[in-house]
Amino acid sequence: MIKKIQFIVIAVLAILLFFVIVDNNKLSSEGSAASDQKSVQVADEVTDSGEETKAKADEETEPKDNEKQDELEEELAVNATESESDHKEDSKVVYLTFDDGPSTVTNELLDTLAKYDAKATFFMLEPNMRTHPNEVKRTVKEGHSVGSHGVSHALKKFYHDEQSALEEMKTTQAAIEEMTGVHSKLVRTPYGSIPYFTDSFRKVFKENDLKLWDWNVDSSDWNLSEEDYVANVISQVEKLDKGGVTPIILMHDRGETASHLDVLLQYLQEKGFETIPISNDMEEYSFNCYDRCKRVAS
Ligand SMILES: [Zn+2]
Repeated sequence: MIKKIQFIVIAVLAILLFFVIVDNNKLSSEGSAASDQKSVQVADEVTDSGEETKAKADEETEPKDNEKQDELEEELAVNATESESDHKEDSKVVYLTFDDGPSTVTNELLDTLAKYDAKATFFMLEPNMRTHPNEVKRTVKEGHSVGSHGVSHALKKFYHDEQSALEEMKTTQAAIEEMTGVHSKLVRTPYGSIPYFTDSFRKVFKENDLKLWDWNVDSSDWNLSEEDYVANVISQVEKLDKGGVTPIILMHDRGETASHLDVLLQYLQEKGFETIPISNDMEEYSFNCYDRCKRVAS
């Protein structure tokens, strides 16, 4: 009797086991098929929706893409012009210029420039060079450019005629050469070349192998108080940068400018600008007379 029960139990268990195995196989094969099908479907959906999204995206971004392409082309054109004029590809250049020195603050300017490994161009007045010869020498020694800003810095004297202007620049040029051994062709006329540096002045300077440098960023550091000139420079630099124009920044060798130069140099460094000195072999940059130039009233 017990044996009979044992047999039945084993038989039932065996049958159950059989069904479980068969069922499992069936399930797993169905399952895999189903899941395969499902994954195919999902893949289709993904592809479809992907294509759809792409198509939709194309539709939506087509004008933008064109715009982007235009922008890219413009950028490439700008870069090409930049690399031609600046001798360096893929880098943004800025020219820092300081007028009217040297002075008692020149060393502070040089210290700050050195901190950022920034190079600048100093347009100097001959009498100030005589007062601060060591600053002149240090400026050149540290890799900056030096140019002539004249002797008198007086409108009526400097712009009196072509010869007076030329004489002042030649005197300063000779002082630079005497003190540093550098022959600099670079000049910046007092207050800039507009309006008194007429075409005939320009012709005489060209004949004497002088290169005239005005600016395209006026810091107004002489009439803005303390650090306000920095914000003024930054907003102009940003505009020029957007247009792909290399900024030439006019500043002065003076205390307040030196005190806040750090902030400006930090900004330029963060934005990836390279500050390089102006050199004799560069194409000069000067304001155009158009019909604005006239002789100074004597
Ligand atoms: Zn000046």
